Amino acid sequence: MPLTAYSISSEKEEDVEQVLKRLSTLFGECVSAAEAIPETWRAFIRQDLQCPCCFVTGAELVKAAYSTASKNPLRQPCFRFNNPKHRDHCDFGSTEKANTVPENLVAFSDSNSPITKAVRELVGTGIELALFSHKSIRDMREWFFNKKVQSMFLVTLDPRFPKWMHSLYREKFYSKPGKEVELTLGIVASPKFSWRAAVAREQLLRHPEYRAFSEAFHKKPNPFFLEYSRMGTLARRFQGRSAFDPSMLEEEYEKTCELARFIAINYKPLKLTTSNKVINVSSVLALAALLMYVRDWNQDFARADFMKIVGAAGSSNQELGNVMGLNPFHDFRTWQALKAIQEFGVQVAEYVDLKAERVAIEQQLRAKLGAPPMPVE
Ligand SMILES: [Zn+2]
Repeated sequence: MPLTAYSISSEKEEDVEQVLKRLSTLFGECVSAAEAIPETWRAFIRQDLQCPCCFVTGAELVKAAYSTASKNPLRQPCFRFNNPKHRDHCDFGSTEKANTVPENLVAFSDSNSPITKAVRELVGTGIELALFSHKSIRDMREWFFNKKVQSMFLVTLDPRFPKWMHSLYREKFYSKPGKEVELTLGIVASPKFSWRAAVAREQLLRHPEYRAFSEAFHKKPNPFFLEYSRMGTLARRFQGRSAFDPSMLEEEYEKTCELARFIAINYKPLKLTTSNKVINVSSVLALAALLMYVRDWNQDFARADFMKIVGAAGSSNQELGNVMGLNPFHDFRTWQALKAIQEFGVQVAEYVDLKAERVAIEQQLRAKLGAPPMPVE
């Protein structure tokens, strides 16, 4: 259930408290608790508020919930969309995500981080300069939702695969390719001989799935080696479910990253983060994507808008920055790599413990050659 909803009549994103405050002014009555609101208000809310992800109407207000034992809050006041239900693939559609913010949405109001604070100031200034508005932020989310539903795929990649293949792949660096000679007792007795390299070579030979994988992926720039851990997490979380393949937004992603780097270089408070790392900072990417979206992805216009904002930033109305931005490119490269690897379809016969397998290989090689047994560690 989302914490904010978009009001069609006020063209603003609002939380429950803000909605109640606005309706008090509109209807001339004061109601401050979600459970006590009159039917006229309910009817108004049902047609005025939209889900911030899939844009259905029919909202109901849901009051805060507290633990009976500890009195700690369990749920903040939020919005429920039951009639009609959320559209397919809405980030708020599943009950497991009740009262959480989907990872691709960015609360600019989260003032704990100095970077988000700086971005919030830029968002507020951009709204004051009328370069964008809550409505354009909402429209961008709708643009993204429509892109998303056109490009879904079923996640079937074994969640064990990325980490396991990464561990196996690392053996390549121990194996010192090009030195493949038949081992003899004389060779292994040499002080220069490395059991580690010999075992790595043998282990890679035992896994034909490694060969298939490395031939397909090792030469291409592929984020697999940076993103394998995250890829496993996503494969586990989305197993058997649909997820967005962001590849159709490649051009937009690259332009947005370029603008994000420009932003990091040209706005002092954001120099906290280096221009290369900035593409991993959701709030900056959300701002860059918004600047690009409102300018139809024209980089020159977007850059010029940004410089106008920088020139005026510093004293914006903080309320304006209280809006949920969208980073359409959350986990972009990870999803791309996950889908490519899944489609390539490497079959792993058995996810053996690779470390234990290496010990067994060395014992077998030593026994075969009549070399002394492995030293006890
Ligand atoms: Zn929805």
